[in-house]
Amino acid sequence: MFPVHALAVVTHLAVAICGSEQVPPALLQNAETIAADVYRDIGVAIDWTEECGDTEGALEVDLVGGDNIGSSYANVTLGFAAPGTSEATILYDRVGKFSKRYGLKREVLLGYAIAHEVGHLLLPPNSHSPSGVMRANIDLQRAAAKKLRFTRQQGELILEKLEGFAPVVVATR
Ligand SMILES: [Zn+2]
Repeated sequence: MFPVHALAVVTHLAVAICGSEQVPPALLQNAETIAADVYRDIGVAIDWTEECGDTEGALEVDLVGGDNIGSSYANVTLGFAAPGTSEATILYDRVGKFSKRYGLKREVLLGYAIAHEVGHLLLPPNSHSPSGVMRANIDLQRAAAKKLRFTRQQGELILEKLEGFAPVVVATR
């Protein structure tokens, strides 16, 4: 038998960030790093792209301004995503507003919002959990410490889902 710890199994996931021209590049890069860390923790490597509208095999996160949505979203909503689809939305102008309100860095709030909404695309409906990155209301302390992660069960569900449509690359190190 191979010792399991000698194998690094990485599943790749392509995520397109659309509307990113509103975001300062350094902020976006840091947010992507924060989101990617959440996924790396469960063995998923995110490949970021900006190729929007061509979502074959890729998930899409749309960063939209407040003018582009109806007033039906509660003013505490930062983003939304319907499970089973490939497109999530983040209300980008609220990222700045909420980061001030919560005393969190913008890049941290944006990064975890991306991780959370992409999580909804990959998990079954009603996938909020009492702790971790899928909490309905962001855990400010753990977010500030950059410690939000998926629960073990969520990690397993996501891998199961991804392995259905993404190639699995097995690398030995
Ligand atoms: Zn949610």
